[in-house]
Amino acid sequence: MSDKHGIPEDANIPGGMVVINLKHNERPMAWYDKKQVMVIGHPGHWKAIVGIPLDAETGRHQINIKNSDGQASYDFNVKDKEYQSQYLTVQNKRHVNPDTMDMERIHREQNIIQKAKSNWRDIDDVSFKFIQPVAGTISSQFGLRRFFNGEARRPHSGLDIAAAEGAPIHVPANGKVINTALYFFNGNTVFIDHGQGLITMYCHLSKIDVEEGQAIKRGDVLGRVGKTGRVTGAHLHWSVILNQTMVDPALFIKEQSSQK
Ligand SMILES: [Zn+2]
Repeated sequence: MSDKHGIPEDANIPGGMVVINLKHNERPMAWYDKKQVMVIGHPGHWKAIVGIPLDAETGRHQINIKNSDGQASYDFNVKDKEYQSQYLTVQNKRHVNPDTMDMERIHREQNIIQKAKSNWRDIDDVSFKFIQPVAGTISSQFGLRRFFNGEARRPHSGLDIAAAEGAPIHVPANGKVINTALYFFNGNTVFIDHGQGLITMYCHLSKIDVEEGQAIKRGDVLGRVGKTGRVTGAHLHWSVILNQTMVDPALFIKEQSSQK
């Protein structure tokens, strides 16, 4: 992690991320699958930081870039990764088979969540030097193929850290609070925007300690661990988003022990 931004190593797998070097003088804009991609660095040494979706197919992928010199495209390769299955039992059956009114609420909330995920704040000093938001053991890894009460549901798009109810959750890097709400599946939730499409999400909180629009510094407490929403017990569900794509949060904290 010699880079001043602390960019994680490449993980060119579904749910991972790749760094693509762009040797242009003027900072280009970049897109992957029509979604704007982070570009950081300096003239002659720009880097596009691309999040790869969990459902990405293996093989060749492409980003498109544009600056006043014109347009170009860059290829990268996505390798196969087999994620394991996980079987969970939840007590509230509506969290597995929502009724009609629940579905209306869920669809309403999906629009708000999508808007938060696609927020764009054009700052240069994006930092990937993340601290783990809560002390505790990883209880569910990212990418698990999930079955709730025996029924297949969407794969696990974040990292679960088991901790006691009320344990403080710290912001892993500087950012801005862009959304706080109580959602059907995610419970009490906070979204933090770290710049250029790097967004983090914290779910199932017992208490939210921040407000929308608030600037927040690395290490500040944003809320408390809880068990609101679709859960089997108290834990933090933490998601990391790049170019509107959920990627594996473990990639952002795995070098932490060697940094201390
Ligand atoms: Zn989770």
